[in-house]
Amino acid sequence: MGDDGKVIISEELCVGCGICIHKCPFDAIRIIGLPEELEGDLVHQYGENGFRLYRLPRPRSGMVVGLLGPNGIGKTTVLSILSGEIIPNLGVYDEEPSWEAVLDHFSGTEIYEYMEKVSSGEWKPSVKPQYVDKLSKVYKGKVSSLLKKVDHQNNLSEVKQQLELSSFIDKDISKLSGGELQRVAIAATILKEADVYFFDEPSSYLDIYQRLQVAKSVQKLAEEKPTVVVEHDLAVFDFLATNVHLMYGSEGAYGVLSHPRPVRTAINVYLRGFLREENVRFRETEIRFESHPPRKEWSKATLLQFEPLKKRFKSFILNTGEGSVGVGEVVGVVGPNATGKTTFVKMLAGEIKPTAGTVGAEVTVSYKPQYLESKFKGTVRELYMTEIMEEFESNYFQSEILKSLGVSPHLDRELLGLSGGELQRVAMALCLGRKADLYLIDEPSAYLDSNQRMQTAKTIRRSMEKRGLSGLIVDHDVYFLDLVSDSLMVFGGEPGVKGFGEGPFEMREGMNRFLKMVEITFRRDNDTNRPRINKSGSALDREQKAKGEYYYSA
Ligand code: ADP
Ligand code: ADP
Repeated sequence: MGDDGKVIISEELCVGCGICIHKCPFDAIRIIGLPEELEGDLVHQYGENGFRLYRLPRPRSGMVVGLLGPNGIGKTTVLSILSGEIIPNLGVYDEEPSWEAVLDHFSGTEIYEYMEKVSSGEWKPSVKPQYVDKLSKVYKGKVSSLLKKVDHQNNLSEVKQQLELSSFIDKDISKLSGGELQRVAIAATILKEADVYFFDEPSSYLDIYQRLQVAKSVQKLAEEKPTVVVEHDLAVFDFLATNVHLMYGSEGAYGVLSHPRPVRTAINVYLRGFLREENVRFRETEIRFESHPPRKEWSKATLLQFEPLKKRFKSFILNTGEGSVGVGEVVGVVGPNATGKTTFVKMLAGEIKPTAGTVGAEVTVSYKPQYLESKFKGTVRELYMTEIMEEFESNYFQSEILKSLGVSPHLDRELLGLSGGELQRVAMALCLGRKADLYLIDEPSAYLDSNQRMQTAKTIRRSMEKRGLSGLIVDHDVYFLDLVSDSLMVFGGEPGVKGFGEGPFEMREGMNRFLKMVEITFRRDNDTNRPRINKSGSALDREQKAKGEYYYSA
């Protein structure tokens, strides 16, 4: 027992019998035998029995260095060390860490020179943090005045154009949507004069077109300055990063950086789930992409049909074509923000009346909003007991939803203390637990790591198929959409002014229509079948555009 009345585990004495794991009622203990080759590579440890990080990447000019791994594996810790925010303690957590010891430790290694610069105190980092929602709490005033303050190199007009900031540059920061805040945060990070640049999840809340604009801006920056990126949208990451360190270990317990691989290989290895050189398996199953997904039988039964619909608000007008949603069908919904996707679904749900046109059947809808705010005071379990008691107690919900989404270990935690990714999965489970005919899930991939995204896609599909329910999933992550959807609805127009919606279409046709609007083409990777974004203007890009094959040629 420690001085604070909490249990300490003596790692020297532990023989790994495993009794304490079974005794502890909170699943708080894990015993992990670490591979011997990690000895000597420990960079940082958060206290006794705390999380350990092994090895560091080396940022370099001329390339975007990427980190790819699950949440809780130490990516933010790596960024904090490389930006000089924490001095690594090399595992000696009970003494003040010192740069002297760090330099001594890294002497003769690739990263020595970099660490020496960080330790000098003159090395300036520029960091785009993961959560941009907080920006409006830290800064007050107009976007333009914030950006002017950091525009040390007179690049504002260029960055403003690249990231398309003009429509909201004169707005107050507190009035911005998530996607706008994200772009302001990225612009500020790029503008700041620094020696090294870090971007922690630059794609959340952005549509795919904006994600690629961001990717291009970051790449341009990386030509001159060392740049490190953490990103979970694999299509965007593939397009953005040059060299990638996969991170593996045990979430919340320890994390190891693998040696860098070119991005294509790194993602393929990641999908396979096995690091051959290190002989480490980090996922039970391989993630596969089918070039021709098997069509399901849902087309036989229709949940609802709708006529062409029109909705007019004071300053926005939406028009959609006719269409239908089948029982058990998962419809992906793509399109820029503020083009009427949510308005459309609310019309289907009968929550708002169309200005013109009718919806064939009355259906009940369960909705997961894009922005998650936990106003509920209490634990996750209490939330479910209050909202969906009957479902919560069913075996189905416990195993197929909570366990599958990885929510079970968090049931007794306070909602207010959850991370973005944890809250996302709790909200997903709540949405799927409510009784309804149609599930509208708005941006479920935000703050989830790539593994969780794929697991979430699987959970949604199974839940719809098994229970004969239907879903409309709004998202911008192409891999996620590819895995989750049977068909696709495409929205477009002028955000905030007028929108149109078409479909649902069969996947390939939907993707083709959507990608044509944003002028992006995809090819399939030869080894894994995964979609890859073509470089704009490349031979393949031009050829596919000429043929009208925006989403992989068959
Ligand atoms: P990632 O960015 O990959 O999600 P982090 O670097 O944020 O991972 O965290 C890795 C682990 O380190 C987490 O499981 C967390 O529990 C632990 N950790 C992070 N910061 C601290 C801290 N200040 N004190 C103690 N533990 C921490
Ligand atoms: P999306 O889901 O594609 O982001 P929404 O359907 O939420 O788009 O919104 C489309 C546009 O309609 C936005 O400009 C929004 O401000 C406007 N809008 C949505 N609901 C209302 C309403 N009840 N009254 C007036 N305008 C609205």
